[in-house]
Amino acid sequence: MALVKGLKCRECGRPYPADPLHVCEYCFGPLEVDYDYDALRGRLTRKAIEAGPPSIWRYKALLPIEGEPAVGRYCGMTPLVRADNLARALGMREVYVKNDTVSHPTFSFKDRVVAVAVTKAVEFDFKVIACASTGNLANSVAAHAAEGGLPSFVFVPADLEQGKVLGTLIYNPKLVAVDGNYDEVNRLCSEIADKYGWAFVNINIRPYYAEGSKTFGYEVAEQLGWRAPQHIVVPAAGGSLVTKILKGLKEFDRLGLLDGGCHTRMYVAQAEGCGPIVTAIKAKSEIIKPVKPRTIAKSLAIGNPADGYYAYKAVTESGGYGEHATDEEIVEGMKLLARTEGIFAETAGGVTVAAAKRLIEQGRIPRDESLVLCITGNGLKTQEAVASSLKVRLHIKPTLRSFDEAMASHDLDVTPR
Ligand SMILES: [Zn+2]
Repeated sequence: MALVKGLKCRECGRPYPADPLHVCEYCFGPLEVDYDYDALRGRLTRKAIEAGPPSIWRYKALLPIEGEPAVGRYCGMTPLVRADNLARALGMREVYVKNDTVSHPTFSFKDRVVAVAVTKAVEFDFKVIACASTGNLANSVAAHAAEGGLPSFVFVPADLEQGKVLGTLIYNPKLVAVDGNYDEVNRLCSEIADKYGWAFVNINIRPYYAEGSKTFGYEVAEQLGWRAPQHIVVPAAGGSLVTKILKGLKEFDRLGLLDGGCHTRMYVAQAEGCGPIVTAIKAKSEIIKPVKPRTIAKSLAIGNPADGYYAYKAVTESGGYGEHATDEEIVEGMKLLARTEGIFAETAGGVTVAAAKRLIEQGRIPRDESLVLCITGNGLKTQEAVASSLKVRLHIKPTLRSFDEAMASHDLDVTPR
């Protein structure tokens, strides 16, 4: 019962049909999916959602597909973890981790957007699925194309982490490693999309793809008992996720699904070595100045973010802010999340934890309010980032004596936390 009115230009508001379009032909603004909210009001209830499948498709009425999902039927409904240990470490009263490290099937939030995009590509009758990716999207596009029985072309920067390369190749796509950074890969892919007529999920069907990210916000609200949190820290690469989480919460509010309305403040987390959106927020400037990425957080290494301006708007209009994290802080953030909550996040997760820590210390996020951290990908994909700082502590012979000696010669703290 999705009630898509069509596409709409985010700049000039011109309407377009729900076709595979992504740019306004008058002002070159990006197009966005528009719904008939009046028709949905009263029909899309909490009860109707709760009776749906335990996946993103329980929110199908607010997703831009016509029929049943072609792929990704088990995507979404990842845990919202009440993170009391991490809260204590950060000096906060109430912290939650929205844990997409366990997203089905490829362990990052990109499964949400790809499940929607590939379903839409099938509805549009595209014969080849493709993407430009910093890694997580590559994994997810290759997996979902395999599930849908479609060939896929995946374009990545040639210096990608091994875990992400292997985690793509296993699904048997055509993997194209490009000598260049993500922004160069993306530019190339725009030309290929035009020439070959393939469904590039994050280029020519981007308006549909991006809608999948709203489910991240829907789930947080539903899992909090139909409440919007006070503060959300979101990692940013292209900048779309933060805008779509806010859009999702606002849609829920507009449809009367939230207790207490939506007053959530949105915060963006980026690496110091690639943080153009955060830099703009700190400078109070709407102009996002592109940068050359230099960070271990490769999944966030987009120097010229497509939705940077809209991310800036979502953050500032919601009363939020942004923070950077150095490479050292990223590693420390990954370790902090792992040792307090038992959650191994990829580098982007380290960025989110580290930026949140700074924002709390600055007093921007009050210690007695509720905070949700968006943890978007799994640490097993980016092992290089922490490998050198993790060591096997003890190496012994298979005898009790050897173990006793090791215990005696090391200062081993075995008291519970
Ligand atoms: Zn326009």
